[in-house]
Amino acid sequence: MMNSIDIKQKDKEYVAATYARFDLALTHGEGSYLYDAEGKRYIDMSSGIAVNTLGTADPGWVRAVTEQLSRLSHTSNLYYSEPGALLAEQLCTRTGARSVFFSNSGAEANECAIKCARLWAAKNKGSEYFGIITLKNSFHGRTVTTLAATGQEVFHTDFTPLTEGFYYAEAGNLASVEELLKGKKCAAVMMEPVQGEGGVVPLSREFVLGVFELAEKYNVLVIFDEVQTGNGRSGYLYAYEAFGKAPDILSTAKGLGGGLPIGATLFFEKTHGTLGAGQHGSTFGANPVAAAGALHVLSRLDGEFLASVREKSEYIISALSDAAGIVSVSGMGLMLGIETVADAGAVISECMRRGVLVIKAKTKVRLLPPLNIPTEALREAVEVIKSVAAELANK
Ligand SMILES: *Cc1c(COP(=O)(O)O)cnc(C)c1O
Repeated sequence: MMNSIDIKQKDKEYVAATYARFDLALTHGEGSYLYDAEGKRYIDMSSGIAVNTLGTADPGWVRAVTEQLSRLSHTSNLYYSEPGALLAEQLCTRTGARSVFFSNSGAEANECAIKCARLWAAKNKGSEYFGIITLKNSFHGRTVTTLAATGQEVFHTDFTPLTEGFYYAEAGNLASVEELLKGKKCAAVMMEPVQGEGGVVPLSREFVLGVFELAEKYNVLVIFDEVQTGNGRSGYLYAYEAFGKAPDILSTAKGLGGGLPIGATLFFEKTHGTLGAGQHGSTFGANPVAAAGALHVLSRLDGEFLASVREKSEYIISALSDAAGIVSVSGMGLMLGIETVADAGAVISECMRRGVLVIKAKTKVRLLPPLNIPTEALREAVEVIKSVAAELANK
């Protein structure tokens, strides 16, 4: 095994420099604990950016994945296979969706949602209704089309021309949504229930329900990007449940596979059957191993488990909200953003030095622990964050 210095050196030499990495190389983990090559232990409060739903090397998940791995690891979508069929059934019966398209990432799940919305509009309103309204400060992915959907100019610079037809409304401002619906020929409104990369900013209930009303009035679809909020992260299986209204299309990825790459686009009543044979595809989509991992994740996310996510969320919020050096806590479930008096980057580095891995979202410290993090580990991590936020605030 390589030591940390060698790993970092080789990475710097050969991996494209698109990531500003922390000065840390992880080699293994168990549950909510991660280790570097020298054996230093860290409490995982980021889950590989909301991916490791059940932590690292969860025994049940490993069993489900390795059993599938030794039976059939890939077939292509030219044939039927069991894990994808069972996973689609689970996703539909637990959400009320009618059908599912599988891909490998959040960006691809959104690409599919966007293609479906355009096709739906072409069939139902006319192909000139290709516009999609997204929100300022949103994040929908890194492909040229999902970058266009992303309402943050910093990501667009120097990659233009992007895909046409994306218009940005202001989160929380229904009038700005309606103005675009009136002025542009649109197919859909697309939004994250909690803007993750945008700084863990939840949309208000009033705004979300208002968007549903506007969508009906102007005959456009509602797309929920639940790539980050989905799969139990919000304290609900999918965050839309908190609003009591299902979208017409829901995209998800990150935590679905519990550590394996899988994306899913769920079609509800209005959009079921829109995409037909030959209109979309993905070589690895519904890969049996990734699907087996996802099936296991979903089997664990029952009512009791989701209630425990909400309890842990409340514990973090109450422990940190009024703590010294902390300005506010935002978010939903185990997707929380902490505004600190001290610079978030400095807080994150010091937490890392003290063995707690948290990440950044804009100017906030972002917490995305494994959903099954044991109380003991969670308390220890919260205490470290609390001390660091307080100490650095006084510097
Ligand atoms: C991470 C993320 C994406 C992009 O997912 P990738 O798997 O990196 O392509 C899209 N939307 C949201 C809301 C995300 O958090």
